[in-house]
Amino acid sequence: MSLSASGVLTTEYLKEIGKYPSEERMKQGPVAVCECVEKIPCNPCESSCPFHAITIGENISELPCVTWGKCTGCGSCIPACSGLAVFVLNKSYSDEVGSVAFPYEYNYTFQVGDVVGAADRSGKRVCDGVIKRIVNTKKADRTTVVTLEVPIAFVDEVRSIYRERRS
Ligand code: SF4
Ligand code: SF4
Repeated sequence: MSLSASGVLTTEYLKEIGKYPSEERMKQGPVAVCECVEKIPCNPCESSCPFHAITIGENISELPCVTWGKCTGCGSCIPACSGLAVFVLNKSYSDEVGSVAFPYEYNYTFQVGDVVGAADRSGKRVCDGVIKRIVNTKKADRTTVVTLEVPIAFVDEVRSIYRERRS
């Protein structure tokens, strides 16, 4: 289903438009991906990067472009994005598992080491994951950055923690 029909981004689409890091790059270390595909006037991701790895330029309605060779995977851009559209992916440390770091703006009780459900871009539970890191900084206000370790085949799909619907 197309993006306009489903409203849900896909890895395939991001690859098609050149906005997704290569497998080779993800195996070299953590790297940011801006899953931002609407031309809106917005650029805090650009100024948040201490390594100048994100470029939007003078026309702030252009899509962000990550120079993956400059990105260290530090994650500073994750809470800077008000659209919750920036993630850091890492497939470098194991053949079995990798990690996804994402913004999280709900209340939570989980802790590092907990096993939780991992959700894809549509919110569907796709696998289990282990919480590896939880970062709350004053600068990020109340946007927590969570790093979740998941089976490596799911790194391209997992983008949050699964939340059960309350009936
Ligand atoms: S992860 Fe760090 S180095 Fe990479 S784009 Fe984001 S802020 Fe820049
Ligand atoms: S801050 Fe987020 S929404 Fe704004 S341009 Fe950057 S990635 Fe897109």
